Amino acid sequence: MAVHAHPDDESSKGAATTAKYAAEGHEVLIVTLTGGERGDILNPAMDRPGIKENITQVRQEEMAKAAAALGVQHTWLGYVDSGLPEGDPLPPLPEGSFATIPLEESGEALVKVVREFRPHVMITYDEHGGYPHPDHIRCHEVSMLAYDRSGDPESFPDAGEPWTVSKLYYTHGFLRARMVAFSDEFEKHGQESPFKEWLARWDARGGDVMGRVTTQITCDDYFAARDEALRAHATQIDPNGVFFAVPAEWQRRLWPTEEYELARTRVQTSIPETDLFAGIETP
Ligand SMILES: [Zn+2]
Repeated sequence: MAVHAHPDDESSKGAATTAKYAAEGHEVLIVTLTGGERGDILNPAMDRPGIKENITQVRQEEMAKAAAALGVQHTWLGYVDSGLPEGDPLPPLPEGSFATIPLEESGEALVKVVREFRPHVMITYDEHGGYPHPDHIRCHEVSMLAYDRSGDPESFPDAGEPWTVSKLYYTHGFLRARMVAFSDEFEKHGQESPFKEWLARWDARGGDVMGRVTTQITCDDYFAARDEALRAHATQIDPNGVFFAVPAEWQRRLWPTEEYELARTRVQTSIPETDLFAGIETP
């Protein structure tokens, strides 16, 4: 079970991993916590009449296409996008939006899904949300709550039969080392790297989460499915943007994996891992 804040996050973070496990016969469920109603239209071609007015429905249709491309199951938790607050001071979050819902309430809703689907493994974001959006931080918080308490019969007795999840991972897609590998390849081919400014800003700020990675999943056979899922989110992803700048052959040769951090486990395993299910006994 992979828990994500908005429709499109499942396609930009760990998508090929979910497609691979689904193709190998695992049951894979994406849970999207909010409808993504407050996302900007990031693809100029989709910034046209009829889109913004119907954004809820448009994003539901995009999400259905993305799930089909990945071959995974999908469910909505049904909360409203909190939006990315901008300005100084930051404006308050919109009333009733996901990040304003008491954690016990949204947590119980996720516990209910966990107890129905009964996953062995959960995937979520790290404590920084991977990206400082209030819904991403909240995604981390509800996921931790669900991992900690789904198996406890005293917790949320009205939310179904207890189920204990074996492992919980953070997805780490935004890796400096990966960007450097691609950037160098552009330069080797005498081309301007689209990551130059990004890397300069990164170097000024410092730090890479690569040191936290415990688990690398080889999933390059599923990069095409990932790209198809990304393109399904037509309002969010510019097909001419940086997501698609790196040729497929370079990606397969230079970085055929997706990266995870084993944040919690109730089973024995040894690090580094190459399988999210390592240590879990299956009948
Ligand atoms: Zn998001």
